[in-house]
Amino acid sequence: MMRKRLVILGATGSIGASTLRVVAAHPERFEVVGLAAGRDVAGLQRLAAQFHVKHLALAEPNDAGIPFGEAALCALASLDEADLVVMAIAGMAGYAPTLAAIDSGKDVALATKEVLVMAGTEVMRRRLSRGVRLLPLDSEHSALFQCLQSTASVPACVRTGDEAKADERLAEVILTASGGPFFKCSEIDWKRITVAEALNHPRWDMGPKVTIDSATMMNKGLEMIEALHLFALDPAQLRVWVHPQSIVHSFVHFKDGALLAQLAQPDMALPIQYALTWPDRALHAPVPAMTLAQMQNLEFAEPDLHRFPCLKLVFEALPMGAWTHPILTLANEVAVKAFLAGRISADRIAAVIEEGLTRAETNFDAIVRYAEEAVTRFERAAVVSS
Ligand code: MG
Repeated sequence: MMRKRLVILGATGSIGASTLRVVAAHPERFEVVGLAAGRDVAGLQRLAAQFHVKHLALAEPNDAGIPFGEAALCALASLDEADLVVMAIAGMAGYAPTLAAIDSGKDVALATKEVLVMAGTEVMRRRLSRGVRLLPLDSEHSALFQCLQSTASVPACVRTGDEAKADERLAEVILTASGGPFFKCSEIDWKRITVAEALNHPRWDMGPKVTIDSATMMNKGLEMIEALHLFALDPAQLRVWVHPQSIVHSFVHFKDGALLAQLAQPDMALPIQYALTWPDRALHAPVPAMTLAQMQNLEFAEPDLHRFPCLKLVFEALPMGAWTHPILTLANEVAVKAFLAGRISADRIAAVIEEGLTRAETNFDAIVRYAEEAVTRFERAAVVSS
């Protein structure tokens, strides 16, 4: 078998580490030809030596002579000898390199939510016109991707022409959510929740921004937008079920009544491996097998949207159109940053997003500016009342 040649952007982060675990487990299948990171020079050089990688790039300037900046990341993403680009740069910094990879005809395994949340329509249009496949890395989207293929149909994100459409048979998709640290509390007083409480996630170990998003369930809202684009769904087809064990990674409900689920260990190496080996499925993985004990007492519940106002806003906004997507994500990003910095209380995160939606602004910079104004206003109001 020819080895698949990978470029990994975001190599020193947690997705990068899981990707390299998969590569190390399948040396006969994969070869890493390019690695990029943000600013961790030593970490990048260590990985380059370990995996014998010649082509490197960093987001930030450095003393090591490694090409840096957006142009360097885009050049790496469109490297001639690459077959597949793993995109795991956090945030909108992943946007230009993703487009560069697509425009140069590379398939992309995409972990960076923001790329689809902010610009999904454009990314999917370019993907189709270049005949490039976009493979989901997120555990929920990988689960949907795997379930959708069960009907001998082709999910939208890898469709290149007139192949059978999965969506005709599809009733709805159900994204599972851990529910975060507060789901089981009888009452959630967002006004009094501390940063430390919100950062204490029961299941996944992630960065602070994603962990707060998980506590407010906004993370699931952003994943809903991702799913809309990846699988060409209608907002009315999106559901969320809380599932604290994180064993069922999502469900697809078909029109004939069949409810298909994908179950696996809560370990990112599995969805990553599936994206890298697709359309094949590997014979082993660097993750322990599921046990019968893990299958006991799996719980599912519909989230009470009144307790999770951020998620409620997403359900209300999506039917209004794609213009709401950048507001949901940017206003949330500004508000979460302000909460982490101790400037506003957690209940204001939803308030900042809600205000953003009423302005119906489409310019990214203006959305951020309005959100920052709202934060400042809430911060002053808190000082006055205390
Ligand atoms: Mg996820």
